[in-house]
Amino acid sequence: MQGLVIKSTGSWYSVLADDAKRYDCRIVGKFRMKGIQTTNPIAVGDRVKFDLERDGITGMINELFPRKNYIIRKSINLSKQAQILAANLDMAILLVTLASPRTSLGFIDRFLVTAEAYDVPAVLVFNKLDLFSKEGLEILQDFKEIYQTIGYPCYEVSALKGINIPIIQDLIKDKITLISGHSGVGKSSLINAILPDRELRTGEVSDWSDKGQHTTTFAEMYELPQGGFIVDTPGIRELGVIDIEKEELSHFFPEIFKTSHNCRFNNCRHINEPGCAVLEAVNNDQIAVSRYESYLSIYHNNDTRH
Ligand code: GDP
Repeated sequence: MQGLVIKSTGSWYSVLADDAKRYDCRIVGKFRMKGIQTTNPIAVGDRVKFDLERDGITGMINELFPRKNYIIRKSINLSKQAQILAANLDMAILLVTLASPRTSLGFIDRFLVTAEAYDVPAVLVFNKLDLFSKEGLEILQDFKEIYQTIGYPCYEVSALKGINIPIIQDLIKDKITLISGHSGVGKSSLINAILPDRELRTGEVSDWSDKGQHTTTFAEMYELPQGGFIVDTPGIRELGVIDIEKEELSHFFPEIFKTSHNCRFNNCRHINEPGCAVLEAVNNDQIAVSRYESYLSIYHNNDTRH
């Protein structure tokens, strides 16, 4: 049988099979990934093949289908090992607020770089629209202009007041979507607004913990009534910047990358080189200064290797 992993506890996986039933599965044999050691071989979002056990409700996963992307978290204790948090994401939503708390442009840019590096399409959703003053709405327009120009779709909602929620429901229909953002921006509120009927959540599938082997849920996907899933796990709510070589950083700023083809030097770092098309574009307001500052900030600090 084939199915989609919708919940993982590390040793058990809840698989939504193509017959629309859920099976609790274990893994047979070893699943290794090239070039990376992982603590968990399979994650939510993975498509797998499994054999049904005789009991008709549990199964053994014996094949993992190729992933189109995946996101990882580095283990703190075992530096060489990483945990795969989710696979096959169709979209990453960054929930942003302009006040209480205010999301900085630097944070937004770091998130977008990470999403680019993971090859996950990102969108920005501005929440707490009901709190926006006239000045707030002007800032919103400025933010939207910066990001829409580069190609990141932007939406504004109020999770609390239910404003524009149908637009988001439509956006995430039939997709596997990750919702991220600072604590307090309203992720839980948004998920609740999208999924008012808690019965639809997959969270209740939890009666298969062995004694002593507690169900530490790595990640979980909530099934949407209109089709699709929301991935929610504490670890990925604030997607960190992953290891990126300095020379590669500009690849993850789409507008800088596009412009860099016109730089005089192939290996231009876009810092102070003569004939740098990126610097020229920043000076001509074709690239937002805030974006360029984020580029420099990530380039110069320790979030990148070397
Ligand atoms: P999370 O930490 O990102 O999951 O954020 P929560 O969903 O717990 O929300 C944090 C706080 O913001 C709570 O007090 C919510 O009631 C409030 N909140 C969430 N969405 C909105 C909104 O659209 N408008 C207003 N005014 N408050 C909101």
